[in-house]
Amino acid sequence: MNALAMMQLLATAPLFASRAFLAAFLVALTARFGGAIPFLSDSSAITALQAAPPWFTSDVAVIVLGVLAVLEATAERSVDARRMLTELGPYLKLGAALAINLGLADAQTSAMLQELTVYAPEGVLHAGLDASHALATGAALFTFWLAVMRKRALSFLLDADEEDDLGLQGALVWVEDAFVFGGVAALAVFPALALVVLGMTAAALFALDRWTAHREASRRVPCGSCEVELHPSAPHCPSCNAARDASALGFLGRPKESAAGPRHPQLLLAAKRCPHCATRLGKARLDQVCSACGKEAFASRADVDAYLSAVQRQLPKTLLVCALFGAIPLLGLIPGIIYYRLSLLGGLRRYLRPGASFTTRWLSRFLTIGLLALQWIPVVGAAMLPLLALANYALYRRALVGTADTVFAV
Ligand SMILES: [Zn+2]
Ligand SMILES: [Zn+2]
Repeated sequence: MNALAMMQLLATAPLFASRAFLAAFLVALTARFGGAIPFLSDSSAITALQAAPPWFTSDVAVIVLGVLAVLEATAERSVDARRMLTELGPYLKLGAALAINLGLADAQTSAMLQELTVYAPEGVLHAGLDASHALATGAALFTFWLAVMRKRALSFLLDADEEDDLGLQGALVWVEDAFVFGGVAALAVFPALALVVLGMTAAALFALDRWTAHREASRRVPCGSCEVELHPSAPHCPSCNAARDASALGFLGRPKESAAGPRHPQLLLAAKRCPHCATRLGKARLDQVCSACGKEAFASRADVDAYLSAVQRQLPKTLLVCALFGAIPLLGLIPGIIYYRLSLLGGLRRYLRPGASFTTRWLSRFLTIGLLALQWIPVVGAAMLPLLALANYALYRRALVGTADTVFAV
């Protein structure tokens, strides 16, 4: 394997870490049809790719990879599927990168060594193959490492804004798609530039990962009795159960300077944290126990009712803010929708059963589009944002009450 092919292999790692099947599909297409593009046919990058093993560029492989790439793109666009894909992702990507890298390494090395075997003894041939296998495996492990860091960065976003109320995750899906398309194209046309850009991407991902880890760790404080590190907003220690003075919980799970108020347990639940020890709750359901202290998030129907009334207290303020946003023609609409989704709906959506979550999300979309179609009616148009907030609130509240009825049925 020559130096260029080696660098290409390493440079594909960020692309595989991002979208394994889309990257594989595009690489297979380039390997198969790259030679037919007038300006590119002589490029060393295309020549290196043309040594790809026949199975990789066969009709079957290209079609299967294309179907998988479409499935992958579709799954990334659904909130629930994206959550699952984010968990499994690194292993899928390791597998895909291993299969493709080893295949490419084999084909390229044997093609190159075949010319040498006339002069070289058998031992050199094996040494060459071993070295390129090691490199291919190394590149696949690099892909895995990048995929794990990507997963952590995305989990951070997912934790901060689970239902993508800010729309950041949705936007990122398009950015990543464009990144993979651009990355494969750049590898074929400007390999050196692509190497620099892809290397910088890996470095940026690493820096982001360090930063979020540092940020999470710097927030923690030791327990007064047993010294275990805990969240400053924890009313009890998860380890020794000692009661403590919790600080209030701020925006996106940040602790505030002020002390926690009487509705602190409900506020923790609204941020998807254990009401007892402020540890993150892992599941999207009412019946779950905290992984740190073992207590139930909602022990009874009464807990759910207390939670529902705490969410309801947000209603007047949310309607008022929405009315103010609604006073700004057109431009107020998007921030208004983001605001009521974060302040009102987020707390209700977090604990819905998957089925209820899915149907409610679609009902909410139809409702929102239907109401927005009435925007042209003068008086209704001005009151549109509060109306949207109220209608969606009623919809999600009904869904959570339904979930509670199922979970705490006697
Ligand atoms: Zn303790
Ligand atoms: Zn707990």
